[in-house]
Amino acid sequence: MDKIIYLDHAATTPVRPEVLDAMLPYFTEKYGNPSGIYTFASKNRNDVNAARDIIASSIGAKPEEIYFTGGGSESDNWALKSVAEAYGNKGKHIITTKIEHHAILHTCEYLQKRGYEVTYLDVDERGVVDISSLKAAIRPDTILISVMFANNEIGTIEPVREIGRLAKSHGIIFHTDAVQAYGQLPIDVDDLNIDMLSSSGHKFNGPKGVGFLYVRSGIRIGSFIHGGQQERGRRAGTENVPGIIGIGKAAEIAISSLDERMVKETHLRDHLIKRLISEIPYTRLNGHESRRLPNNVNVSFQFIEGETILIMLDMAGICASAGSACTSGSVDPSHVLTAIGLPSEIAHGSVRFTLGYENTMEEIDYVADRVVEIVEKLRNMSPMYQDFIRRNRC
Ligand SMILES: *Cc1c(COP(=O)(O)O)cnc(C)c1O
Repeated sequence: MDKIIYLDHAATTPVRPEVLDAMLPYFTEKYGNPSGIYTFASKNRNDVNAARDIIASSIGAKPEEIYFTGGGSESDNWALKSVAEAYGNKGKHIITTKIEHHAILHTCEYLQKRGYEVTYLDVDERGVVDISSLKAAIRPDTILISVMFANNEIGTIEPVREIGRLAKSHGIIFHTDAVQAYGQLPIDVDDLNIDMLSSSGHKFNGPKGVGFLYVRSGIRIGSFIHGGQQERGRRAGTENVPGIIGIGKAAEIAISSLDERMVKETHLRDHLIKRLISEIPYTRLNGHESRRLPNNVNVSFQFIEGETILIMLDMAGICASAGSACTSGSVDPSHVLTAIGLPSEIAHGSVRFTLGYENTMEEIDYVADRVVEIVEKLRNMSPMYQDFIRRNRC
């Protein structure tokens, strides 16, 4: 195979051709600033608002509850910092989990340095947040609960409905980082009692550098970027018009193709899991078996290094990731794999494959064949494995 097989969709996804086509005119012919009063510009304002309508209706929200941002990290930063600032006089306690993306964890650390207290909830061995420990963590001064919708490394889907219900009954704001879930799972913010939600275009076949933050009306948040009146004065700066048109188109396609993609990707996912687990001994699946993103496969191969597997997969034209893209290159095992209790020597042998709409069964079988070969080859060179086999023989 000459072409690459891309199985790293949790890191980023290709822009769909229809999305690019929708965006292109806004770089050239339709370049007007949406704030302008002449028709040439105000048409762009309408088009930006049409994208806002699509996004709003995709999660059961109102258009005025959607703010366009520069991506998932910005949405997460804005959500946490704005609630801390606006509600800091009510209390200074925030609850989150140990398995959040760094956009949440590092923002929490920033807030801790500024006098906020953060509780980091444990998860069980499949990565699920325990509702009773969440209940126990709630205090009179808790102002925010931020729990991700689904984890980017191991794919576990969190009990968002129960968390939303609990937050609501205590009058606490509930934010969810839905960067991995949006466009992969159906989401209704009213049904699930979500008050704030982060999403990012490039994770669902839209462009990079554009995302959105949903903020339930009634929640007081301040301006994140000060300046002009864009995004109702809360996020100043001339709108990223091509990006916003692109994320709107990507959302439209993601929602209309959701059911079909969920079925297809779940089928490919389960086929890959089954082949890897049944054909390679001393291999485990990380994350939950069923409460799992349709596109996520995360496995640990004992006795060998995930990084080495990735290099060999790369030589076979296969793109995958070890733990999470942000942590690869570092020597510590990922914080998520540590949180589910994996001993570091097993965590080090982990590989994440994340599928997308363009993957085929033929590709999945090719990948499974290569992984089987690579793991066998590496284990044959591993003194740890040889030693293990020798000891188990006698
Ligand atoms: C990718 C990702 C982010 C960051 O999104 P960017 O648009 O890359 O800033 C945040 N949270 C999760 C769960 C992610 O997967």
